[in-house]
Parts: sequence; C-alpha cells; structure tokens
Amino acid sequence: MTKALSPSKIVCVGRNYRDHAKELGNDVPKEPLIFFKPPSSLIASGEPIVLPRMSRQVEYEGEIGIVIGRRVRRVREEDARDVIRGLVALNDVTARGLQKSDGQWARAKGFDSFCAVGPESGDTAALDDLEVVTRVNGVERQRGRATEMVFAVPALIAYISSIMTLEPGDLIATGTPAGVGPLAPGDRVEIDIGVSRVENPVTAER
Ligand code: ZN
Repeated sequence: MTKALSPSKIVCVGRNYRDHAKELGNDVPKEPLIFFKPPSSLIASGEPIVLPRMSRQVEYEGEIGIVIGRRVRRVREEDARDVIRGLVALNDVTARGLQKSDGQWARAKGFDSFCAVGPESGDTAALDDLEVVTRVNGVERQRGRATEMVFAVPALIAYISSIMTLEPGDLIATGTPAGVGPLAPGDRVEIDIGVSRVENPVTAER
C-alpha cells in the first residue's frame, strides 16, 4: 500500500480513448463507463506487480490519475478543476482474460498490486498538456494525450460526482490509450506523465 495515498475509492473510466476502444473491439461509450478498483490494489513505484495464479494473462494500462482534494457532490463541469488536488501516473493493471470471461470487472481489475501509482504532483495546471507514455523494458508501448480523451477530466469529475460523493484523496483513473499488452515475470513497466512517474518490476505469484 502506497503511503502517500489512501483513497476511500478508486474510480476508473473504461474506453475513454477511441483507439483503445477499437483495439479491444468495443464501441466508444455515449456516457463515461465507470468501474472500481479496491484501495487494497494500490502499490507505489518500485513495488512488484504480482501476476496472480488465477490468470497469467495480465496487461498494463498506462493512465493519468486524478487525486481529489475536497469532499464534493454534483460538481459542475466548469468548477471541476477546483476540486483536483494532484496528478499521478497510474497503471490500471488488468487480467484481460478474466475481464472478458467474468462479464464484470471486480476480479480482473482488483488483485493486490494491480494499481501502481507514482508520486502525487500538485502541478494541476499541467493537466491539459499531459501526455501518458508506457514503456516495458525501456520500449515505448503507449502514448496518448489528455486532449484525446473521449470525456475530458472536468466532464468525468462532473459525471462521477453526480453519482457518488467524492472524498479527499479519492483517485480517478481516466482511461488508457491504445497499445495495451502483456506483462511477464521479469519485466519492468513504467508509466510516465511528465509530472509523475511509476515504475514497477513484474513477478509471478508463487
Ligand atoms: Zn484502465
């Protein structure tokens, strides 16, 4: 468990980049598609991502993570930037086979170590210029800009807070661009958003 963050919930957004929706054979959603990861899935930079015995078909998803700064409900889109406390590089690690077979994603997204998060940056003004880059063993696998999201961050905060109260420290994972792919024991995977970076070794559960 990363010491810097202890969110009451981690709200994730699926299919928020057109090219990624397409690569998995999905349509682009008409409204944000949200799901949860449990706070117990959190790890910090340097801690191992553990491939579970239940599934070795595990993939990285490099994402821009948003840290909420205050308790809010029904935030208007134009006010949404005011509730952002920080930005983190985030790896929404996913057991892809289980995601397809289960029909809902609690297991596929919820294993311990499946949410790797870099140090929080308070440079929230950087949001519009952010680019997320994923490298595995030093080789670039994903690159996407915040401006390419189907639903931009203020729209996501407005939408999620119209459903549930957001608490200080809550984390929003804003979706992954195209280029997701497998992780194997011995890999090193890195998510870099410029203002924050998370790098983790990959091991297999014994
Ligand atoms: Zn994701």
